[in-house]
Amino acid sequence: MCYRVECKKCGKYSWGGCGNHLATLYASFEKGKHCMCKSWPGAVITSENHGSVSSSSTTKGIYLYT
Ligand SMILES: [Zn+2]
Ligand SMILES: [Zn+2]
Repeated sequence: MCYRVECKKCGKYSWGGCGNHLATLYASFEKGKHCMCKSWPGAVITSENHGSVSSSSTTKGIYLYT
């Protein structure tokens, strides 16, 4: 299971661990608190800068093991 860490560069939340649970971890953070210094493989990044994004679910088929 991955865990939250505080990024020393930007002070926001980053992650540590195996990297296989980032979708869950990413979703558990408040909007705007995600560190972007490190990539979030597997997480659905919602950018507020891109006006309209398809609202259809992209999480279909993703299975999370905790
Ligand atoms: Zn993990
Ligand atoms: Zn950062």
